Amino acid sequence: MKIGFIGLGIMGKPMAKNLLKAGHEVVCFDVNKDNVENVVAAGAKAAASAADVASQVPLVITMLPNSPHVKSVVMGEGGVLEGAAEGLILIDMSSIAPLASQEVEKACAQKKVRMLDAPVSGGEPKAVDGTLAIMVGGEKALFEEVREILLVMGSSAVHCGPIGAGNTTKLANQVIVALNIAAVAEAFTLVRKAGVDPHLVFEAIKGGLAGSTVMNAKAPMMMDSNFKPGFKIDLHIKDLANALDTGHGVGSPLPLTALAREMMETLHADGFGGDDHSALARYYAKLSGT
Ligand code: NAD
Repeated sequence: MKIGFIGLGIMGKPMAKNLLKAGHEVVCFDVNKDNVENVVAAGAKAAASAADVASQVPLVITMLPNSPHVKSVVMGEGGVLEGAAEGLILIDMSSIAPLASQEVEKACAQKKVRMLDAPVSGGEPKAVDGTLAIMVGGEKALFEEVREILLVMGSSAVHCGPIGAGNTTKLANQVIVALNIAAVAEAFTLVRKAGVDPHLVFEAIKGGLAGSTVMNAKAPMMMDSNFKPGFKIDLHIKDLANALDTGHGVGSPLPLTALAREMMETLHADGFGGDDHSALARYYAKLSGT
């Protein structure tokens, strides 16, 4: 199939390359020319704009930072809807506010473009391996229609409900991940300050109840002070802000999420917004004077 791909960053690049490897043609666009060249070198064709992508394909995937980017790339000047023919399918795989997904879908429906929100979890390594966990909102029939394409990029794709439900699911994922990272950073600072080797603590507890995917991935980064992203603090702040807005909207207070967001905001203010979210360890290092 000929597939459009817009947004070729840490995640979009390997996802587009997996579509190429699976035998699909890819027409791509990104405002960052280096990222475009990288994917073109793997066999994709470059387009001049999002509208240009949409005019050449029956299906467009977007993988952009946040709601304003998706709105402008889809609904703005030179955007997807400008180039879209009736019947185009748009799969937005970015992590954005559920209300923004609903707004974009309404604009799509006016042009008879069908849309799913399909954010992912798993980070760059799983994007490279094609083993992302994909959570989908929108018409069930449309989900069934594109399931095989989603499964080129992920090892699971679950239909969670109507449009926006994919991103609501992703917010739950991001709340759980942020609070787990904070817990790991807090506990590992404790043992370090108490004079016990964190490497031995990791070995001792990883097979017990505290063991988790988050601890396995992030504790080694914290112990090595290796905060190369991965998933940037600034993107996680965006997700937690979207979770807090959504919580306010539906009457679900999120006290721990608010705290984790403030910790991450502190790191952003200190100039670490581009670090991996495991850099929450820096926050605890500062608190504990180490
Ligand atoms: P990124 O910042 O590396 O990539 C975003 C890309 O979008 C960049 O290449 C940027 O140039 C491009 N872009 C921005 N505005 C654009 C525009 N107007 N037109 C065209 N291209 C534009 O971000 P990422 O880490 O790849 O994340 C993308 C999305 O996936 C985010 O919503 C993020 O929350 C989510 N996500 C990321 C990870 C991760 O581990 N990095 C994991 C799961 C989900």
